[in-house]
Amino acid sequence: MHDSTIAQLAEALRARRISAVELTRHFLDRIARHDPALNAFITVTEDEALRAAEAADRRLASGDASALTGIPIAHKDIFCTEGVKTSCGSRMLDNFVSPYDATAVERLKAAGMVMLGKTNMDEFAMGSSNETSWYGPVKNPWDTTRVPGGSSGGSAAAVAARLAPAATGTDTGGSIRQPAALSGVTGIKPTYGRVSRYGMVAFASSLDQAGVFAATAEDAALVLEAMAGFDPRDSTSLDEPVPPYAAEIETPWERLKIGVPKNFFDEGLDPAYAEAVRAALAEIEKLGADLVTLDLEYLHLSVPTYYVVAPAEASSNLARFDGVRYGYRSPGAEQLDLVTFYKRNRAEGFGAEVKRRILIGTYVLSAGYYDAYYLKAQRVRKLISEDFARAFREVDLLAGPTTPTPAFGLGQKTNDPIQMYLNDIYTIGANLAGLPAMSIPCGFVDNLPVGLQLIGPPLAESRLLKTAHYFQKATDWHRRVPPGYE
Ligand code: GLN
Repeated sequence: MHDSTIAQLAEALRARRISAVELTRHFLDRIARHDPALNAFITVTEDEALRAAEAADRRLASGDASALTGIPIAHKDIFCTEGVKTSCGSRMLDNFVSPYDATAVERLKAAGMVMLGKTNMDEFAMGSSNETSWYGPVKNPWDTTRVPGGSSGGSAAAVAARLAPAATGTDTGGSIRQPAALSGVTGIKPTYGRVSRYGMVAFASSLDQAGVFAATAEDAALVLEAMAGFDPRDSTSLDEPVPPYAAEIETPWERLKIGVPKNFFDEGLDPAYAEAVRAALAEIEKLGADLVTLDLEYLHLSVPTYYVVAPAEASSNLARFDGVRYGYRSPGAEQLDLVTFYKRNRAEGFGAEVKRRILIGTYVLSAGYYDAYYLKAQRVRKLISEDFARAFREVDLLAGPTTPTPAFGLGQKTNDPIQMYLNDIYTIGANLAGLPAMSIPCGFVDNLPVGLQLIGPPLAESRLLKTAHYFQKATDWHRRVPPGYE
């Protein structure tokens, strides 16, 4: 069952060849068997899942089912889930049970999807390797001595190991695409504002965007369709109708002009990885596309710009965690004066990477430095957006590698934040410009997956998904499953 696509599972559910309860049990069993080695889940909601599956079976029997009714899904632990722990990978929220559902969760629930549990992640989504989680690192199913990528590493690993047919994620600087690439699955980050941020614990609000992981672009299209759309509770939500992605990706292929940024292939890129990406581009060319080389002039400034803007917003967003109403409170802290109370709770509740971001963010926003750093970064951000806008006057899509290398070893980059940050060199630009982008499996280097990144102009999700879908009809990289998880 776990090697079927969501569309196939939905078919089997509607034909009553399987029940939602059977399907849910199947995935829960796989989680019980495999997750101890992977640590992809922080919480498994077995009882709730079985109850939701029973309700889905009733809906299926009554004929009132959607395309996703009875299909299991895992949610990144950054999404608030009513009555279920929502930790954001942090000790700070280890005791937090959300009183409400995030909009994305609510919509998937309304579609009849069955939540299996909450996936592990870098603390407050800060990281590229899933090693900053309070709950320990996630292991890459392709090689458990390596990282799955981050910050949505638990979701990526869960889908890669077929512990869930789909999983939600968030992408502030690459956290859907980078783990999708390193774990060998399909991941899409839609246009900024396409999916509501309501109930998604905030990291950097002008960059954060929810999206989805699945084995195929077709599956991702189905889930995204149900998640996306205007939400009055998120002031940056886009008030635009959601196209029927799953239907649009099946329309006949139309010739595309694809821009390949020269500087995506600069010296930082692993040569074998580059070769796999070039082979994938040649495959897309065969489907009917003209490849043109172009330059993104300010690409090299995207990582430094991001590491001013994102920490600035994070330092402000994370000020709410003080241990007063909810979240971590140091034992005996009530006896302390107020300032020491805050300091103790935050010192013990946050991990090192989160503290580093808060310090950087507070510094770049402080009087005297605001103009030199934060304002300057906002200006460069504008230049980067214009760079992309210029490119999209010439081409329909941009394509290149998702990451500079395949999955690296656990612990290999933890002592060198700059090296860790450079992992997102190809992904961060799309966040700064608010553009939709995705990563799809396109080859292997030393048995480790390689990701092809596609970036589109605003609201071009259908074009991205359709290109990925046609690529997946012509190739089978996305069907490879890590050994031991078949
Ligand atoms: N790796 C980047 C960071 O640590 C991006 C994280 C993300 O997209 N959430 O900030």
